[in-house]
Amino acid sequence: MAPFGTVELGGTKTLVATGTTPDDLTSPRRIPTEDPETTLGLVVEQLAGEAIEAVGVASFGPIELRPDHPGYGSITRTPKPGWSGTPVLRELTDALGLPVGLDTDVNGSALGEGRWGAAEGLSDFVYLTVGTGIGGGAIAGGSVLGGVSHPEMGHTVVEPHPDDRYPGRCPYHGGCLEGMASGPALEDRFGPVGEWAGESEAMALAVHYLAQVLRNIVYTMAPQRVIVGGGVSSMTGFHEHLRAALASQLQGYPGLLEFTAADYLVAPGLGDRSGLAGGLVLAARALG
Ligand code: ZN
Repeated sequence: MAPFGTVELGGTKTLVATGTTPDDLTSPRRIPTEDPETTLGLVVEQLAGEAIEAVGVASFGPIELRPDHPGYGSITRTPKPGWSGTPVLRELTDALGLPVGLDTDVNGSALGEGRWGAAEGLSDFVYLTVGTGIGGGAIAGGSVLGGVSHPEMGHTVVEPHPDDRYPGRCPYHGGCLEGMASGPALEDRFGPVGEWAGESEAMALAVHYLAQVLRNIVYTMAPQRVIVGGGVSSMTGFHEHLRAALASQLQGYPGLLEFTAADYLVAPGLGDRSGLAGGLVLAARALG
């Protein structure tokens, strides 16, 4: 396999590496995500002159992903200052003179996990990340699920916990899943994430909200596996609690043991390299 450049363009930080698989990736260079010109300029600086054949970018969204759309490969409407309308794909392609593949960060992570990680060999699965934001990417029949846009699983509706008076912090919806259970939403109620205890109220609330959306995912997509990653999910015991909460949400319907099995709802197999691994998959696809 050819060596590729891989970029994880995040809301607060951007990682750049080169390699062919997650095992031979160079140590990622970390760039703070600032304005588009500075950030993309530094990405190009890192990759220009490298012996690579293509580049893959797993980016924060929302992104226009319809190939026949004039804005293909651009960030669309984002609250992140300066980034709305940025043609990420075109700018990197022009600056590097190489084929560039682009998808959302969660779709990229899903592709990486499907190729080398916790969903290796599966055709239908979901990757959900719970961190600064909440996002989900779905692979359906082996392809990234999306039509007019990419899924925005973090913005789905949740029922408030009876003891939770928090209004939610999503600028669009207030108390959607992301508004209630993202890292910043939990920190608003419970202080810095590093101070939460393992069996904390913060985790109980996060699990309360996530399990509702996982129920909806199970009932709408019936995936073979769900991978849950991101900073909030790294709390000790998180996946066990979430598994139990999902089982409670399903109430035994339709009674498939698969949905409550220990290997159904899992942590990412690639740890924090899912996104960069996804960039490698996207680069290979861009090369054709
Ligand atoms: Zn929302």
